[in-house]
Amino acid sequence: MNFIYTKFYQNHRKRQDIEKNLMWRKAGFYGEQNLDYHLSHLHDYSLTVFHNLRLPFRGHYFQIDTLILSPFFALILEVKNIAGILRFDPNYDQLIREYSQKMERFPNPLHQASRQKHLLNQWLQKNFNLSIPIEFYIVNTNQATIIEASPESKPIFNKILHLESLTEAIVLIQKKYGRSLITEKQLRSISEKLVKEHTKYFPNLLNIYKIPSSDIIRGVRCTSCLGFSMNRVYGTWLCPKCEAKDKMAHTQAILDSLFLISPTITNKECRDFLKINSPTVVKNLLQSMNLPASGSGKYTVYHRPPLELFLTDRSNF
Ligand SMILES: [Zn+2]
Repeated sequence: MNFIYTKFYQNHRKRQDIEKNLMWRKAGFYGEQNLDYHLSHLHDYSLTVFHNLRLPFRGHYFQIDTLILSPFFALILEVKNIAGILRFDPNYDQLIREYSQKMERFPNPLHQASRQKHLLNQWLQKNFNLSIPIEFYIVNTNQATIIEASPESKPIFNKILHLESLTEAIVLIQKKYGRSLITEKQLRSISEKLVKEHTKYFPNLLNIYKIPSSDIIRGVRCTSCLGFSMNRVYGTWLCPKCEAKDKMAHTQAILDSLFLISPTITNKECRDFLKINSPTVVKNLLQSMNLPASGSGKYTVYHRPPLELFLTDRSNF
């Protein structure tokens, strides 16, 4: 399902950015699933795994891709999907990626990781008055990456793992820290606090890419001729241009609104967006999509469904 950008003009100048953003999120989601699969081989039930943590701390948020907690240590994993050849440039303190004859620069990942380590340490100190060893790795989930390590880049590449070597690295960490520093009970309270403080992030793509909302076209798009003028006729959508019919044409428009404009939509907003006058028709359309909802009657607000539900198609990357 290619939602999110269907309402842009085919040649909108920001279209590529939005597509890239979605691909990147898709890659992240599969990276996580892959990671869980590898972690399950450890059969270590004292490990608690958290994905995509976003924690408020001292007026800011800090984010951790994956955090593994055990009574002996904490392990931060920064999950990346980097295709191509990786080199480190010590002069400018940056990673260089060469992929399909293009060069791209990334900041030295060690800086980001040590910042996260520092913040997690402070968070544990402040909330639990605890100090446990915190290790970190950057895990690359792309199997085809080639790492070209020169002697001076060793400290960096020692911290970048291919997914296949992750379990081995965890076993080494487990051997290194044999002394239990927190009790099961403390571990449980830390886990509960992490889940409670975690704040979901809904990126507003229009803001990020500075797209005026006037660039978003209202109306239901015809899946055949791609015009934005389908009409609701006898329980289906009819295109006045090419006469195509599509019962489900509105779902794309409603998802576009929820992912591009606002994470919620009311009946009134949906009527404006779909260009329909009848509140009853819109109510039926919204309800048929099984969206998460809050409030009742005419105060019902429909919410954005989890992005993951739409990322089941691997063919796009
Ligand atoms: Zn049409």
